[in-house]
Amino acid sequence: MLFAELPPTPPPAIVQSVGYDTRIRLNSIGFLPEAQKQATVAAPCKEFTVVRMSDQAVVFSGQASTPFKTAVSDTDETVQFVDFSAVKAPGRYKVQIAGVGLSAPFDIGPCVWNLPFEVASRAMYLWRCGTAVEGTWNGITYRQKACHLEDGWMDYAGGGHTKHPTTGGWHDAGDYNKYVVNAAMSIGLMLKAWEQFPDHVASDSLGIPESGNHVPDLLDEVRWEVEWLFTMQGDDGRVYHKVSSLNFRYWGPPDKDDGPRYLTPWSTTATADFVGTMAETARAWKAFDTNFSAKCLDAAKKSWSFLQAHPEQVDADMTAFHTGAYNTKDRSLRLWAAAELWETTGDAATLHDFEKGAQEFSCTFSKGGRGWGDMTDLAFATYLTSSHPNERNADIVAQLTKSLLTRANEIVAVSQNNGYRRPLGVERSTWYWGCNGTVASQTLLLHLADKLQPDPAYRATAQCALDYLFGRNFHSRSYVTGLGALPPLHPHDRRGEPAWPGYLVGGGWPDGRSWKDDRARYDLNEIAINWNAALIYATAAFAEPQPAKQ
Ligand SMILES: [Zn+2]
Repeated sequence: MLFAELPPTPPPAIVQSVGYDTRIRLNSIGFLPEAQKQATVAAPCKEFTVVRMSDQAVVFSGQASTPFKTAVSDTDETVQFVDFSAVKAPGRYKVQIAGVGLSAPFDIGPCVWNLPFEVASRAMYLWRCGTAVEGTWNGITYRQKACHLEDGWMDYAGGGHTKHPTTGGWHDAGDYNKYVVNAAMSIGLMLKAWEQFPDHVASDSLGIPESGNHVPDLLDEVRWEVEWLFTMQGDDGRVYHKVSSLNFRYWGPPDKDDGPRYLTPWSTTATADFVGTMAETARAWKAFDTNFSAKCLDAAKKSWSFLQAHPEQVDADMTAFHTGAYNTKDRSLRLWAAAELWETTGDAATLHDFEKGAQEFSCTFSKGGRGWGDMTDLAFATYLTSSHPNERNADIVAQLTKSLLTRANEIVAVSQNNGYRRPLGVERSTWYWGCNGTVASQTLLLHLADKLQPDPAYRATAQCALDYLFGRNFHSRSYVTGLGALPPLHPHDRRGEPAWPGYLVGGGWPDGRSWKDDRARYDLNEIAINWNAALIYATAAFAEPQPAKQ
């Protein structure tokens, strides 16, 4: 099936030019009927109305809040808030503010997050390497021929000039290389969406080649990457760190990128991440393909044994390469590997390894949502939501639960003190390369907290993250290509333009005013699998449950 065969969900409003007043800043996708609905207004205002677009009827009127001064390290401006949560009837609307103008359009309805979830998930398919892909979105057909069919060479990995086939997988980001560490983070987030919201992500009609095979497409897409990961495992269980060109110089369609690409030596980071990925995938796939599930688990066990025989960190020698390094300390990755392997097998020795490691990390969740360099949050999430909870150490469970709720409450408070309700905060330290991905991945802690101790503020704040990413921000623009109001048109993506759809760009830094829609600015406007996986998770949480599989 081609990408063109979209499910019959009405498309969200897409505004390709500024047809609205950018001083009225709101989530341009929309809101669930019962959700909190707010906009930030960067102009003096008193009264506002909500106008239904189908008949121009005024369905709500209200008063703006008192002025709020944003931090200098944020956007350094005075804003006001308007709240139209009382509008609940499905439809398409705009906010109108006397003396200012009209907002971008937005929808209210039970399915407003389904299409963003679907487009972000299909975007992973469009990233596939080693196969032709094709899809249509918003009237444009995107095509790519099979690429990188010569992956990869062993010259730098101790194998001489021999081939170790590593075709397949996803391109990592704006570049076409393939990195095990970032793949693991991405799959970890996508499978958390599956584990926590299985009925929200059960669609078998996302428009990928496997659609209609009676397996949720999200799991099919994970499998595509996992099949590549198998090729990165050596016979003894070591896992090669990456397969890559020697530099980033090439810019153009991937099938024309015919320079040699090489494996690097193995690393304990890649090996640990491989174990976690394979063990978690084995669980997810068990009900759909027992042979594949068993293959994943066998691969996880083999690399776990190799890892235990190498207790000290070993990094890959990448001195010949000038591409992404994805180097980090391996302790949290080993922790995640143990968590996933124990959850899948119930093995007591592996549980002991995890619990010992958890104490090394003081049983503490991250404040802002960690990335590929620190997998403790994913490890702790798996432990806290275990399907065999009675095997766990009660003290560790209590400490982790307390830490999680503390962090979630901090995120809620930080969001409430922000002019755009950005849950990551306003300090300089919260603006960095890829911070939009962190805004999306923070929702993991919020939904996890909501699962363990339900509180409407957690869900509301998770939605604030989406509000921010889809237009309630200083730029009054969606940060996701092809979706929402005036989305990025020039992402840092070697496939070129028009911008391929469904990708979250990294976001501005060092403050909230700094984003530029400039393809040369990879530090502001690149796309990446880990950020998209976070977006998939964040949107999955609010997607309307899908009908049961046929
Ligand atoms: Zn490729």
